[in-house]
Amino acid sequence: MQPLPKKYDFSEIERKWQQKWEEMGIYRFDWNDAKRTPFTIDTPPPYPSGEFHMGNILNWTYFDIVARYKRMRGYNVLFPQGWDCHGLSIEIQVEKEHKIRKRDVPPDQFRGWCEQLIERYIAIMKDSILKLGCSIDWTTEYRTMDPDYWRRTQLSFILLHKKGYMYQGTHPVNWCPRCETAIADAEVDYEKRQGALHYIRFPLEGSKEHLLIATSRPEFIPACVAVEVNPEDERFKKYIGRKIVVPIVNRAVTIIGDEAVDPDFGTGVVQICTYGDKEDVKTVMKHKLPVITILTENGRITENGGKYAGLTVNQARKAIVEDLSAAGLLEKTETLMQEVGVCDRCKSHVEILERKQWFMKTRALTDQVEKTANEVVWYPDYMKTRLIDWTKSLDWDWVISRQRVFATPIPVWYCKNCGELILAEEKWVPIDPKLENPHIDKCPKCGGTAFTPEHDVFDTWMDSSITCAVHAGWPDREDWHRLFPADVHPSGIDIIRTWAYYLMVRHLALFNETPYKSCLINGMVLGSDGRKMSKSLKNYVAAPEVLGKYGSDATRQWAAGGGATGSDIPFRWPDVEYGRRFLVKLWNVSKFAIKLLEGYAPSETVEFELQPLDKWVLSKAEKLTQKVTDALEKCQFNIAVEEIRNFTWHALCDCYVEAVKDRLYRPETHGEAKRAAAQHALYEVLYRVLQLLSPVTPHLTEEIYQAMYADYKGYKSLQLSPWPEFNQALADDQAEEHGDLIIAVIGEVRREKAEKRLPLNTQIKKLTVYAGDQKTAEIIKEGNVDIAGTCKVSNLEVLAKKGSGKTLSEYPEVTFTAEYEG
Ligand SMILES: [Zn+2]
Ligand SMILES: [Zn+2]
Repeated sequence: MQPLPKKYDFSEIERKWQQKWEEMGIYRFDWNDAKRTPFTIDTPPPYPSGEFHMGNILNWTYFDIVARYKRMRGYNVLFPQGWDCHGLSIEIQVEKEHKIRKRDVPPDQFRGWCEQLIERYIAIMKDSILKLGCSIDWTTEYRTMDPDYWRRTQLSFILLHKKGYMYQGTHPVNWCPRCETAIADAEVDYEKRQGALHYIRFPLEGSKEHLLIATSRPEFIPACVAVEVNPEDERFKKYIGRKIVVPIVNRAVTIIGDEAVDPDFGTGVVQICTYGDKEDVKTVMKHKLPVITILTENGRITENGGKYAGLTVNQARKAIVEDLSAAGLLEKTETLMQEVGVCDRCKSHVEILERKQWFMKTRALTDQVEKTANEVVWYPDYMKTRLIDWTKSLDWDWVISRQRVFATPIPVWYCKNCGELILAEEKWVPIDPKLENPHIDKCPKCGGTAFTPEHDVFDTWMDSSITCAVHAGWPDREDWHRLFPADVHPSGIDIIRTWAYYLMVRHLALFNETPYKSCLINGMVLGSDGRKMSKSLKNYVAAPEVLGKYGSDATRQWAAGGGATGSDIPFRWPDVEYGRRFLVKLWNVSKFAIKLLEGYAPSETVEFELQPLDKWVLSKAEKLTQKVTDALEKCQFNIAVEEIRNFTWHALCDCYVEAVKDRLYRPETHGEAKRAAAQHALYEVLYRVLQLLSPVTPHLTEEIYQAMYADYKGYKSLQLSPWPEFNQALADDQAEEHGDLIIAVIGEVRREKAEKRLPLNTQIKKLTVYAGDQKTAEIIKEGNVDIAGTCKVSNLEVLAKKGSGKTLSEYPEVTFTAEYEG
């Protein structure tokens, strides 16, 4: 056994082991190992944002605990790491940084800038992942912006196109006018914003009457194609079928009836415009109404807006309201709090535009997604309803094309002569159709030889939603199915609708199989004030600050122990501080144990005589093993951490070590066999604590293991030691009951010394314990070595009868009297 340094210096220890583990290569997945069962973690490749925040700490701690635990359980663990590069937010940041719009510079230059920014961001985030001590196999690192990764995205598109899952269509899509691209439902956030509800008179054709329409979007009036009322609404049903005049443009449209109209909202009369919102889209389709395009791709009013053409949405709204008011058609305006859809990257108001796009037929898979979600194991279980509810709520197929630059190209061309679509062949990818022609001589349909490339690119989720197959080695490894489906897909609660969902539909469509067997969900990190952590709320804490101040092992305890898996977890400095104090306690007890165990050489042949407290602590360690194993199997990390910390702090440090010190120090009084028993129990129980704790706090446990155990246990790293099996033979309820009683006697005697302000080592001339009955007396007598040793008793007498003196708080029948020296 080697001594530990005096002071627990986490930064030195953590840095040292992170480097050594990497050198040892112990986290590498062994692709050639046919013996161990593989266990694959579908690590989500994060968007490089240049910041590893506390939410990321929470995620990666979860992933890493699972990885380390499974490795110790004997699995060949694949814990990969990629980077999902093609984010819209990267384009926005590059535009800001270079003060340009993406269309102002050649695409190659723009892409280059994006790649440079990504590399800077990856470096920052990787640094935090390394400092957190994640046991990632870095030989697997990949970037979705690399052509070798595109190849997989493009190949999956080609296969899905051949299977009939991909189609082009002119369909309304969510559109961000600031980013000038289509976006998916999952990229639309909802925010409460204050708006105004305008009450506008629409005159009935050929009549002096009018109907009042309440709308928050008067700028869409030029695109009004119908007016709608509920057919059950007694006030208005008589107007159905009649014509009404749209103000401003003076065009007559028909009044239609539809049950979707809520008679209680606004005035009960609704204008249908193309397109004010998703309801308009449904109504237009259902009633086969014409479409008047009112917005351009950059959010301005089109020619169809007449005199308002060229204005922005806000300018047009203001002008139209003024004109309505001047014409006497504006009855009143009220303020209105409304939920508006905003672009999740730039927070601009999302509009609905009709545009030719690529879609994946995802709604066709809804039943299969539901069925599969029910077969997957969810931690916690109730999270599966989030995926099921989301898939059922979708009105539209997934729009997979984007009008961006920094993204995977769609491998498609069109014949210039006849318009025929040329899909890349599987062996052509990776390919950028804007830089290369299709590898064919002529159009198969008309024989034309000129082609135009597809300028649209893929949604980023097209890259990242095939990770389960990619991590397994698809399409290059023949044996990729050995690692597919992934054993666990870990995901944040906020991205179930994207990550978990897109993975599911992509893999179901491609392989007709679930991508993952289980789904581990983490909640959000809240600020210390209980609100979502955010820079604007001033409750934000940066991860590097926490890691710098307290180190990884303390921070990981916060993440693992902060709350039930799947629930939101507040960040509180005192929780991290508590984690650090626990580590210092473990450090100190280990140092003390090294001293107590001086000269001890663990061996099978040493004879020892277990005392009740040895059996007590050994039994408790077995029960702890069972509880921690059970908790980790269910991904209940907080329970595992609490159990280990409680046991270590109380049973091991406060009770056991205190009670056996004397036996360890004075073999001449108690005998070698009794000392050897305490040595054995202390050595093995501390080892058990280190093992159980090692998935959560890998660095400190490794440091102690190397000093105290490596020579005897023989594993190169604690991380390579097999997870302890619960040993029924050592789990002994009776020994625990007896030990509890002995611990209570010791505790109460020590308490009396403290109350009398006597030093704990004050010698007791005579201690008389009144057990109350014969059986209790015998149990206490069994512990007399440790009671006398710990309490410094010269003469210990245990009597079966009832007596006087101080009462044991938990055993009211048992009392004692002590005569002190001096
Ligand atoms: Zn945007
Ligand atoms: Zn052609």
